[in-house]
Formats: sequence, C-alpha cells, structure tokens
Amino acid sequence: MGEGRFRETWAEVSTGAIASNARKFKSLLRPGCLLMAVVKANGYGHGLVASARAALRGGADRLAVAVLDEAYALREAGVRAPLLVLGYTPEAHVEAAIRLGVALTVFGREQLPEIEREAARLGATAHVHLKVDTGMSRLGIVSPEAALDAARQIARSPLLKLEGVFTHFADADGEDPAPTLEQAGKFENVLANMRADGIVPGLRHCCNSAATLKFPELHGDMVRVGIGLYGLPPLERNECESPSLRRAMTLKTRIASLKPVAAGMTVSYGRTRTLSRDSMLAVLPIGYADGLRRGLSNRASVLVRDTRAPIVGRVCMDQTIIDVTEAAGVRVGDEVVLFGEADGEGLVPAAEEWAGHLDTIHYEIVCGIGPRVPRIYD
Ligand code: PLP
Repeated sequence: MGEGRFRETWAEVSTGAIASNARKFKSLLRPGCLLMAVVKANGYGHGLVASARAALRGGADRLAVAVLDEAYALREAGVRAPLLVLGYTPEAHVEAAIRLGVALTVFGREQLPEIEREAARLGATAHVHLKVDTGMSRLGIVSPEAALDAARQIARSPLLKLEGVFTHFADADGEDPAPTLEQAGKFENVLANMRADGIVPGLRHCCNSAATLKFPELHGDMVRVGIGLYGLPPLERNECESPSLRRAMTLKTRIASLKPVAAGMTVSYGRTRTLSRDSMLAVLPIGYADGLRRGLSNRASVLVRDTRAPIVGRVCMDQTIIDVTEAAGVRVGDEVVLFGEADGEGLVPAAEEWAGHLDTIHYEIVCGIGPRVPRIYD
C-alpha cells in the first residue's frame, strides 16, 4: 500500500485468525463440499491478498471477489486458486477475465455471445457460474424457463464451461427461516429442471456465512463464506450452534496530545459538546477519512488504559477528541483500541457497537476502514 509508514494509527490483522476461522467453517461441511472464501472489498477491509492467502492456508478451496480488478490483483500477487467474480464484468473486460483464468458470473443470456467470442478469439474455454435470482431482486435470472435456456446454451457451447449454478439469500440471518427455505426451493426447482434436461450444473452453491451455520442441509457443493471468515458474528442471536470465531481486525491509534480543558468550553466543530466539568481531553490521530465515521461523534467510546473514554464533540476528518478524565495515569503515546477482539470483560469495543450507533451492520464498519490506515499482519 505504501501509505502508513509514518502513522500512529493502524489496523492489526490476524491472518492466523482468518486461517483458523476458515478451518472452523471447513469442519462444518460434509466431505467433498467446498469452501469459497469471499475476499471482495479488500477482504472486507482486512486486506485482499493477505486474507486470501490466510483463507487458503485454513483450507478454503476457492476465492470469490466482486469485481475483476480484485481478481487481477490476486493473480498479480501470485494467487493461483480458482476465482469467481460474483458481480458484473463489463463486456470490454471479458477478455482479461478469460486470460486471468477467472470464472465469470452469468446473470443473463445476453452476456453469452461476447464471452463466447472472446473465448474463441483466445482459443480458450471460459468458465462461468450461472446466477439465479430466487428472491434478492439483484443480479440473476428470475424465470426458471429463462434460467434453463441459459444453462442449455452454456452446456452446449464448446467455448464455455458451466462451472457452477448459484443463488444468494436475502435474509439468511433473519429470525424467520421461511423466506430462505422458499428461495432454496426455487433454486432446487431450477436445478431439477436442468437435471431433467441432462445438464450437469457443476457446483451448486447458495449459502453465505449465516446460511452455512443455520442451514447445513442447504450447503450443496460449496458455501461462500465472507463475514465469518473475518471472525465477525454472522448471526445476531445465538440461534444455532456456531463455532467460536476469532475477530481478525483490531483498530488502534495512540494519543497525540493531552490537555486539561475547563468546564464551559466547547469541543470540536459545530460546538456540539460543552464540557460540564473541568476535563482532560486527548486528541487521537484518526478521523472520518480513516473510517471513524462522523456519526460516532458524541456516541462511541474507545479503550484507553482499561477505561472506556467517550468521543466528545464531532469527529473531524483526521482527528478525534476523547474525554480521558477517568483514565488514570494516561499519557501521550498511550495505545488506544477503537474496536477489536473482545476481552471477555466487554471493555474492548466491538465493530457491532459502532454499527449500532450508526444504524448499520458490522460489515460496513470493517469495509469502511480507509486505505490510509496501514494493516499490520501478524
Ligand atoms: N455470496 C455473495 C453473492 C455475496 O454477495 C456475499 C456477500 O455479500 C457473500 C456470498 C458472503 O456473505 P457473508 O459475508 O454474509 O458470508
């Protein structure tokens, strides 16, 4: 990345935790069922290449990314594992995908002529996974007839290999299993039509992390695990037996400045906080440009010397002010934990705590840690 050499704000990423989480997910699968590690979005903020390598070390069989650039970066780094681009690949870049030996997602028949043309030009076989939309209303073919048509066209083409057929659940982590089972039923219907037509679907896959834990009967030939790989809980409630996962990312900084500020003074932009007592305030060299979102102003707290210190006033672009009046013995240079691996006493904030303040999900918190924050790998 090149950035971060001189910074006192960093994200510690445990590749050992990612490998161990992959191993745990793998142990939940019946023999022969594959684990696809989802490393899109810079490995959910943890680092694309490091996360991919760690997942493979932990037993992942394949990798998934969202866009071709991510696949390219993995290949450039020497990662040779089978790769699937889950999202849209523009026609102009189909050639690059085939050259990189990366499987593409087909979500409409109209994509096929261009993929075949490029495969023919390169004298190669293009590997594709057919995406069926069973209830997400995102990418994927909705009508079972159209899905069968596309599958037929792929199966008949000497230039294409149908490597898999997949769908994605909209609410696998929700309380009610019914919508997921309904989606699974529609998926099975498409697969049954294919079988009746003599088409071999390749790998059948539909489970994300939550579905992998909750619906072992839906694992199919492969599961696609993202959030759980990074040790963040896929399920909000303990509704089924889950492996104990290790959180891979801990976000840290150090106190840059410390000073007493008198009662009655206001803090930061917009003067949203007036001190009610004489306070000791500390400035942290991290701000919303790093992913410490402005919505956490006057809401979240961080860990300093075994004490939770609240963020006071507005988070700025590069700096944040915390109240350390209660943190005995605090000094400039002290390490501060913004979120990370739980310590058992609830002192270390979890990414979910930030998500709660921001009305979002922990996925967005870790993905949002910016490129200016160096990732330090174990
Ligand atoms: N499969 C697809 C198509 C996805 O878009 C995602 C993530 O958004 C995943 C699998 C992984 O999901 P999770 O991170 O919930 O395991």
